[in-house]
Amino acid sequence: MVPPGSREALSKPPRTPSTGFGESTLGEVAQGDPVRLPDLATVFSKRAERLQALAEGHELEGFLRMIAALVAAQDAALRDLPPGSLPGAAEIAKGKLVGRAPLDPSAWRRDGSWRAALAHILAGIDRGKLPEAAETARAALERTGEADLEVLADRFLEGNVSPQEAAVAVFVAAALQVAWTRMAALLDLADLGVGPGKEVEADTGICPACGSPPVAGMIAPGGTKFGHRHLHCSLCATSWRYVRVRCVHCGSTDKISFRNLAGTSFLRAECCEACLGYSKVFYLESAKALEPLADDLGSLGLDLLVGEEGFARVPNPFVLGVMTTGEAESL
Ligand code: FE
Ligand code: FE
Repeated sequence: MVPPGSREALSKPPRTPSTGFGESTLGEVAQGDPVRLPDLATVFSKRAERLQALAEGHELEGFLRMIAALVAAQDAALRDLPPGSLPGAAEIAKGKLVGRAPLDPSAWRRDGSWRAALAHILAGIDRGKLPEAAETARAALERTGEADLEVLADRFLEGNVSPQEAAVAVFVAAALQVAWTRMAALLDLADLGVGPGKEVEADTGICPACGSPPVAGMIAPGGTKFGHRHLHCSLCATSWRYVRVRCVHCGSTDKISFRNLAGTSFLRAECCEACLGYSKVFYLESAKALEPLADDLGSLGLDLLVGEEGFARVPNPFVLGVMTTGEAESL
């Protein structure tokens, strides 16, 4: 079931020119865009490109190159994904009644698209970029049956990944991202309560499309005004506007303070004394090639710093099970 008017989304040319993360549309972003659905033509390819650039000389070079290979495999899997289904209008309406995002994984039973994506990723990824533990996990997943894969997906979506499952969870996360990103791209903004003429200020720290937490926030240059912050979904790559200097976890605007690493003016951690949560904020004015998920992984050092001070966040999906409360030592 695909909402009217969105069937052609998969075959549309890129909505933005190939300039990466939004430089060409900053004026537009600064003015508004309460919600931006993912652009399937570029979302994974630009992310892979950014990961490769970040990997060069990075202390986590091997890890970043592995994730770059994984994201490149996601891009290929997306292009070969068989037709899937979306929640129907009735299911979306029902979800709205209880305040759920239309693609909330806990509100609606997913179809097998993600498993098709997983099979494609496992077969297609550049195995030369995988360390031994990742290759062992890849091979094990290829032998795993449908029912067990569904259990793994449920556990990942519930954020319930043990350190022993971390290597497997990376592949499961990647496949679920492919399926959810496609679904999000096929939504109509009207399903999210936004559209032409409606000025909705998103006031939630979770994704309006799928209910997942963000990986990071991006602040666009605002010209003479303050730029808006957009949070970026960890699962479906939708982004939505969120007030600046406000805790993403509890909504508090009180007792917010910032931390940054020496020499990184384009990135700060917004820390909340009220709930001890934090989130990363990237400033596009200072560094234009940023990509939220890639740059989150490229700046795990900041997570260590604020983790040591006792602040916590929902980890990036690719370090779930490794980093639980800001601990990334074992990467
Ligand atoms: Fe989402
Ligand atoms: Fe808070």
